[in-house]
Amino acid sequence: MPVLSEVLAALDALWPPERAEGWDAVGTVCGDPGAEVRRVLFAVDPVQEIVDEAVQLGADLLVTHHPLYLRGTTTVAASTFKGKVVHTLIKHDIALHVAHTNADTADPGVSDALAGALDLRILGPLVPDPGDPAGRRGLGRICELPHPMTLADFASYAAARLPATAQGIRAAGEPDREIRRIAVSGGSGDSLFDDVRAAGVDAFLTADLRHHPASEATQQTPLALLDAAHWATEWPWCEQAAAQLDAVSDRHGWGLRTHVSRTVTDPWTAHAASAPLTTPTHTTGAPR
Ligand SMILES: [Zn+2]
Repeated sequence: MPVLSEVLAALDALWPPERAEGWDAVGTVCGDPGAEVRRVLFAVDPVQEIVDEAVQLGADLLVTHHPLYLRGTTTVAASTFKGKVVHTLIKHDIALHVAHTNADTADPGVSDALAGALDLRILGPLVPDPGDPAGRRGLGRICELPHPMTLADFASYAAARLPATAQGIRAAGEPDREIRRIAVSGGSGDSLFDDVRAAGVDAFLTADLRHHPASEATQQTPLALLDAAHWATEWPWCEQAAAQLDAVSDRHGWGLRTHVSRTVTDPWTAHAASAPLTTPTHTTGAPR
């Protein structure tokens, strides 16, 4: 059975921390390097529900995509929700390790897993990492659909293939427009519109799209947009990451048990569609 420091070395080899963005906070949040590791749980968010799941499972290590502390803190008191997370983890001898932007740009990375969940053929990174001579690492992926679909059909297809959330998928653009090539980026991708336009794709699927960037992007070019729940775009990475650690475990004969949390931690929990857009809800000015 490996100790935590050995497992962490394997995780750092998959997602080297030095490849994370300067503002990011990746790596080990808590954990004893000499503690034995048998069970590992992968999840998107280091929130209390997930930590409770790790306790229930008897996990020794929790690996999340999102950092617990992105900025500094002066307290881990259990009266704060993050402090309670730390307390619960330490009380149950569970380590927490974060792979965030270093997993986004990895090969394979978060957007490879997203493209895989959508059964897209990957052509290359949307924003290539200049440090990768093979040209496979980088942010986002440019992909081809398995067959051309209308925007409306692709939105339904993506909603059915990504894990279910209250949000589902929103689409911007002419619903009948044919989509063949698409850029995808797990998580918040609205800083990537220039790269998406330069890629000459028909559509862009990401999360957290806001009114002004989305409005401007669709006004400038006939680019279609698909906005999925942030959690749903990154969850496929957990399965990919668990499979990668399984392969390392097999190679070393570690016998690790890896698990992927299926708990939906997207913060949005309900969605009400408006009345159909084509149905008039009232008439005005009609003579009595
Ligand atoms: Zn994210």
